[in-house]
Amino acid sequence: MKKATRSRMDGVALYSPPRDEVAIDLSDNTNLWGAPPSALLALSHPGASVATRYPPAYAEELKSELARYVGVAPECIVTGCGSDDVLDCAIRAFGAPGSVIAYPEPTFPMVTTFALLSGLRTAAVPLRDGYRLDASALLAEKADITYLCSPNNPTGAAFSRAEIERVVSEAPGLVIIDEAYAEFSDWSALSLVSGYDRLVIVRTMSKAWGLAGLRVGYGVGAPSAVHGIAKARGPFKVNALGNAAAIAALRADEAWMRGVVGEVRDIRAHLTEQLRAMGLEPLPTDANFVFVPIAGAPSIAARLRQLGVAVRGLPHGIRVTVGPWPTMQTFLEALARCV
Ligand SMILES: *Cc1c(COP(=O)(O)O)cnc(C)c1O
Repeated sequence: MKKATRSRMDGVALYSPPRDEVAIDLSDNTNLWGAPPSALLALSHPGASVATRYPPAYAEELKSELARYVGVAPECIVTGCGSDDVLDCAIRAFGAPGSVIAYPEPTFPMVTTFALLSGLRTAAVPLRDGYRLDASALLAEKADITYLCSPNNPTGAAFSRAEIERVVSEAPGLVIIDEAYAEFSDWSALSLVSGYDRLVIVRTMSKAWGLAGLRVGYGVGAPSAVHGIAKARGPFKVNALGNAAAIAALRADEAWMRGVVGEVRDIRAHLTEQLRAMGLEPLPTDANFVFVPIAGAPSIAARLRQLGVAVRGLPHGIRVTVGPWPTMQTFLEALARCV
């Protein structure tokens, strides 16, 4: 019998980290302080038309609010069903089958999946000693698309401004900078957008803004670049509830979001100190998670889960979401029983 799917799908698996109920979930870097109050209010009394009518095709009002938030013109914004969708559409819009996408490794794994599904070839360039960016090796790939995640998931640190500027100015094709964790960091590449036509910065309402369940992401770039992504995306990708909640949050709750970010930054410093006191060597982080290199990380993650604390177990370490201090204490106590 003929196979049902294209052969390029053979190497693609479903996204399937363990997701069953656990007392404290520090595995997916979502906002453990909750959601913006204005967003919850916007969700609480939706009229029937929210269900019966289509949402705005390209989320024009949401684009205006996002544009104000990041300080660009609305025509520099494209939205999507989570930033995953924006990444997928950017790769589809700029990558022809057979073209190359280069990225540092380790990084956000969905990029590989989207690239394979669109028929691209992948060039994974290992981070150097101390998990630093090897900009020369990345640029040597002369890729059609270069992807950088900064702050990088799963390692946590942002790449330096000089390194990012070098990649953006020397890469021959599109550069995508995934800034899912930008709010927790000291620096964003947003200011580079006005100088480069082939740069798209991808962001999300899922992390600092606490709206992961509503699936709202966006891209920021030159109008010609984001227009191409919007065409690859198609209409109605931001659903009516996500649209309403995100607009409310951007209008009324930036201070709420900044408050959470301030707590995350204090707690991640304290968490890092406590991990060092245990003899571990957590990597520097500019995000709302900490990567702790550790031998046997997958089995440590499995034991932590049995103790009621979920973290992400990766080949070379565990990645822990920063949450309110009591959850960090529970994690540290459980970890002490596992190492
Ligand atoms: C969480 C995450 C995303 C996905 O965010 P959504 O907007 O929820 O799709 C994208 N990139 C990175 C690096 C992430 O960690």
